[in-house]
Amino acid sequence: MSTRKPLMAGNWKMNLNHLEAIALVQKLAFALNDKDFDKVEIAVLPPFTDLRSVQTLVQGDKLRIVYGAQDLSQHDAGAYTGEISGAMLAKLGCTYVTVGHSERRQYHAENDEVVNAKALAALRHSLTPIVCVGEGLEVRQEGGQIAYTLGQLDGALRKVAPEQAKSIVVAYEPVWAIGTGQVATPEDAQEVCGALRTRLAELYDSEVASGIRILYGGSVKSGNIAGIMAQPDVDGALVGGASIDAGEFTKICRFSD
Ligand code: PEP
Repeated sequence: MSTRKPLMAGNWKMNLNHLEAIALVQKLAFALNDKDFDKVEIAVLPPFTDLRSVQTLVQGDKLRIVYGAQDLSQHDAGAYTGEISGAMLAKLGCTYVTVGHSERRQYHAENDEVVNAKALAALRHSLTPIVCVGEGLEVRQEGGQIAYTLGQLDGALRKVAPEQAKSIVVAYEPVWAIGTGQVATPEDAQEVCGALRTRLAELYDSEVASGIRILYGGSVKSGNIAGIMAQPDVDGALVGGASIDAGEFTKICRFSD
């Protein structure tokens, strides 16, 4: 495990209405304690419609849980029906926003150019983009995972200045592991996360690269998190399905079952 403070981020995907969101955050607040928060940063990434409720709860009860969104517009304002801007998220107290999640790439045809525009939009509004990269099954079977994910990283970070890069988070999420129950081995996760850090050092410098948190995501559960967190270049997890179960997510935040 690295000296970077680990981040456990729960991507709720399109689950839980605002009332259910309040219930889940309350359960998490009850289960987690100061020692947990000292050791790890804990974030929830609810659907847009839940954010105001989560904000009110977190701020009202002074909870140490931070929160963010699952997407944002690449534009700052204007005639973009249905979109949510970085400014709106910042105003709601969001810390994080995911960009380039494979479900956005797959179902909304978001390519590296769009992911890059969204990362820059997040940074313009002082949000921390969690930049998601990861190969599909075919690429993995051909052994092309490193070249593929580094290409996505390069694309996502175009025109991101070193000062801005310091604050980003990168998430390695192999597509074949997301929601499938087929978690990457700790060694597989380390191989790609290590390569991503090396590339960050090439794009910026080793000081910037060593400060950036790199998460693993894909079928993380309490039973497999310890091995993943033992890897030197893995600084946390982006957790999907298991993050909407308070008990399971709490165990994940403690790296244990
Ligand atoms: C995700 O949605 O980012 C994810 C990793 O999902 P899951 O944990 O369900 O595989």
